[in-house]
Amino acid sequence: MNSNVGTIGSAAPLVADASPMIDPFGRAVSYLRVSVTDRCDFRCTYCMAENMTFLPKKDLLSLEELNRLCSAFIAKGVRKIRLTGGEPLVRKNIMFLIRELGKQVGTGLEELTLTTNGSQLARHAEELYDCGVRRINVSLDTLNPDKFHKITRWGDLEKVMQGIDAAQKAGLKIKLNAVALKDFNEHEIPGMLRFAHGRGMDLTVIETMPMGEIDADRTDQYLPLSELRASLEKQFTLTDIGYQTGGPARYVTVGETGGRLGFITPMTHNFCESCNRVRLTCTGTLYMCLGQNDAADLRSALRATEDDGLLYAAIDEAITRKPKGHDFIIDRTHKKPAVARHMSVTGG
Ligand code: SAM
Ligand code: SF4
Repeated sequence: MNSNVGTIGSAAPLVADASPMIDPFGRAVSYLRVSVTDRCDFRCTYCMAENMTFLPKKDLLSLEELNRLCSAFIAKGVRKIRLTGGEPLVRKNIMFLIRELGKQVGTGLEELTLTTNGSQLARHAEELYDCGVRRINVSLDTLNPDKFHKITRWGDLEKVMQGIDAAQKAGLKIKLNAVALKDFNEHEIPGMLRFAHGRGMDLTVIETMPMGEIDADRTDQYLPLSELRASLEKQFTLTDIGYQTGGPARYVTVGETGGRLGFITPMTHNFCESCNRVRLTCTGTLYMCLGQNDAADLRSALRATEDDGLLYAAIDEAITRKPKGHDFIIDRTHKKPAVARHMSVTGG
């Protein structure tokens, strides 16, 4: 085991090694989400403004550097890595990183997965499976091609459907993620549920979170999932189950379809108490909470020396700052987003 002493960001020296990461509230950190790029080929209205400014390419960590950072986290107890973005599959040569990380599945890492908008899935599906990926999340907010184009601004539903077909053919298990949006897809969820379950996919619905400036007013988009659940219960028999995928969703089974439906409710039900996650950006910034601004710079430690001791020290110091939870609020009196950065920076 690599051992070292560092003083990153703290007066007291830290003994740095590949020991597990336990935060001040006793929560073990075992799940790393990595936003491999903040760029995207869609412009979903709840996620980004149409004329987004992206990070300068020179600020990005190389894929080799991202691999080294992820490996340090695996050495420190991370068991699940989710690659996200932006759109992970638009990063040039991303399959290199996926292949390298895939080699660690079964030897420390239990699962390598990704969240994708599906636009590039058709051409990558087989290779993803070959690299050791077994499950992926595909974001899909509507099954109506015109509405799909409206919500993503630049997306083509047909391509995403081809991606889903190819992924299932390659043997990848898919979970669909839909952001629940008032007056947009709230009445479509029953149809999406039947579609997903009919194809052997779970469906998870997500409350919109106040992250980053967008062109719209979030109050107009926000649909509390407690309302959605009540309306679904008029048509479906939902039974709470303890099923866990290591993420924040709470699941029910749907009697009529026999499938699973997940609820991610950062707004109406704070999911922070069981948080096991940290989030890494493509510039090497570590966010200890999706909904807070505090962050740690791991890029300096990464580039300072090839010895991972300094990196472990920087990670340990960051974990001492993991907050208890977020303070998201969406209402008419809160016009500013809770955090200024967009979801695409930290990854959803
Ligand atoms: N581009 C990929 C995709 O769309 O799946 C991965 C990144 S995207 C930021 C990850 C997830 O975050 C998507 O399911 C997206 O719908 C969700 N998301 C984006 N902005 C959000 C927001 N403000 N509130 C809630 N979910 C959001
Ligand atoms: Fe791109 Fe995903 Fe954000 Fe949509 S939600 S703009 S696909 S990063």
